[in-house]
Amino acid sequence: MVKEVHVVGGGLAGSEAAWQIAAAGIPVIVHEMRPVRRTEAHQTSALAELVCSNSFRSDDWATNAVGLLHEEMRRARSLILAAADRHKLPAGGALAVDRDGFAGEVTRKLEGQPLVTIVREEIDAVPPAGWDSIIVATGPLTSSALAKSVQSLTGEAELAFFDAIAPVLHRDSIDMSVCWLQSRYDKAGPGGGNADYINCPLDKTQYDAFIDALVAGDKTAFKDWEESTPYFEGCLPIEVMAERGRETLAHGPMKPVGLTNPHRPGVRTYAVVQLRQDNALGTLWNMVGFQTKLKHAEQVRIFRTIPGLEQAEFARLGGLHRNTFLNSPVLLDESLRLKADPRLRFAGQITGVEGYVESAGIGLLAGSFAAAERLGKFASPPPPTTALGALLNHITGGHLSSGGAGASRSFQPMNVNFGLFPPLPAPEPKRVRGERGSKTLLRKHALVLRALADLDRWLAPGASIAAE
Ligand SMILES: Cc1cc2nc3c(=O)[nH]c(=O)nc-3n(C[C@H](O)[C@H](O)[C@H](O)COP(=O)(O)OP(=O)(O)OC[C@H]3O[C@@H](n4cnc5c(N)ncnc54)[C@H](O)[C@@H]3O)c2cc1C
Repeated sequence: MVKEVHVVGGGLAGSEAAWQIAAAGIPVIVHEMRPVRRTEAHQTSALAELVCSNSFRSDDWATNAVGLLHEEMRRARSLILAAADRHKLPAGGALAVDRDGFAGEVTRKLEGQPLVTIVREEIDAVPPAGWDSIIVATGPLTSSALAKSVQSLTGEAELAFFDAIAPVLHRDSIDMSVCWLQSRYDKAGPGGGNADYINCPLDKTQYDAFIDALVAGDKTAFKDWEESTPYFEGCLPIEVMAERGRETLAHGPMKPVGLTNPHRPGVRTYAVVQLRQDNALGTLWNMVGFQTKLKHAEQVRIFRTIPGLEQAEFARLGGLHRNTFLNSPVLLDESLRLKADPRLRFAGQITGVEGYVESAGIGLLAGSFAAAERLGKFASPPPPTTALGALLNHITGGHLSSGGAGASRSFQPMNVNFGLFPPLPAPEPKRVRGERGSKTLLRKHALVLRALADLDRWLAPGASIAAE
C-alpha cells in the first residue's frame, strides 16, 4: 500500500492537487477547515468555493494567456476545468460558471473518489514529522495559527499578509523616444549597471494635472475585515500620498534628482515616474512605488497620461488586498517544495499566483510533483514556454528581485500573461497579406502554438516522469 499524501486546504488549488494525486493511484487526505472554522470570504462548506466573481476570465485559447491556461489544464485532465466546462453559463468569450453547480461537482467528484478522504478540520501548525508529504494550499485567507507556524519556518519577512501591487507594463509598449534608461546618480546597484531604470519625465503642468487626476480618481474601498489588517507606511497607496500634499510625490517616488533627460538635456524635469525591470526575461517592468487602490479602468486612463506611457499595455494593474503569500522565488524549489523543509509543498494563491485558474494550475502541478515523488520518480517541470511553465517559473525564479537587503518584498502576486513567456526567437511573425489581426495578435497566437506543441510533448506518456 502506497503511503498517503496530505493536502491542507480544499479550495481551488487543494482540490485540483488532490484529484491529480488520486488519479496517479495514490491515497490522499484533504484537510479542509470549513465549516468547522470559516474564512472572512467563504460562505459555504463546499470545496473549491468561488469567493467572488463567477468568471474564470477569457476562454479564448488562441490569443489570450488565461484562455491558453484553460486549454493546457483541459489537456492535463484538470478536475477544476472539467467542472467549469460542465457548469458554464453564457458569458460571451469568458468562461463563467454556475458557482454552486461548479463547487458542488468538485465536492462530489472528490467525495466519490475512493482514494480521497476529506477531513473537516483546521490544521493549526506545521504538521508532525510522521506526515512526510504535505501540500499546503490554504489560500489568501490562510488561518492565522497556521500562517504563524509557517512563518516560524520561513522567517517573518518572507510571508506577507497584504499585497501592495504596483502596475506592471510590457516593455515593448513604452515609448523610448520620450523615456530614457538611467539609474539615479548613475549609481550601479548590486544586481546591475548604472542604467537600470526607465524614466518617464513630467514638466510642472503635466505633474499638476497628474496629481489632480490621482486625487479625483475613482478608488476601491477596503473591505471591513481588511481594514483591521495592518499595512505599512512604507507602501502607502500613491493617491494617499498625493492627498497628503501636492508636492509629496515630487519629493518621494517621483523625485527627479540625479537624472538627466538625454532627449531634452537643457530642460528641467519637474518629476519622473521610474520603472524597474520585473522579470528575468526583461519583458515586464513595474512602476516603482505606484501601489494603488484606484479602480482598474482609472489606472489605465490616468497612467496613460504619463509621457512615454500613452500606449502602455498593462500586464498587471495595481492594488492593495489582504493576501497571505510566500516570497516563493527565495523559499521554494522548482517542484514547489519548501527548501527549509522539503516535506512541505505549497500550491495556489499562497505561492504568489493570482486568480482562480492560476491557483488551480499550480495545484495541478503540485499534485503531479507530489504523486511522482511518492512513486519514487522525478517529474520534470513543464517547459517555460507553456502557460503552466511560465507561471511556475514566475514563482520559483523568473521574478527579478530589486536586489539588496529587504528587496525580497518586491515579489508580488501575478495573473498569467504573455509577458511571463520567453519571447519568440527573432524574426517576429510576419503579417500574412489579407490576413486579419494586428501584429500583436499574431505574436500572441505564435506564442500559443509554441506553448501547446511544447505542452503536448511534456504530457506525452513517460516524457515528464523519470526514475529518481
Ligand atoms: C475577497 C476575495 C475576493 C477574490 N476574488 C477573486 C475573483 O473574483 N476572481 C479570482 O480569480 N480570484 C479572486 N480571489 C482570489 C482567490 O481567492 C483565489 O484566486 C483562489 O480562491 C485561490 O485558490 P486557493 O486554492 O489558493 O485558495 P482558496 O480557494 O481560498 O482555498 C483555500 C482553502 O483553505 C482552507 N483553509 C485555510 N486555512 C486552513 C487551515 N489552517 N486548515 C485547513 N484548511 C484551511 C480555506 O477554508 C479554503 O477552503 C479573491 C480573493 C479574495 C480573498
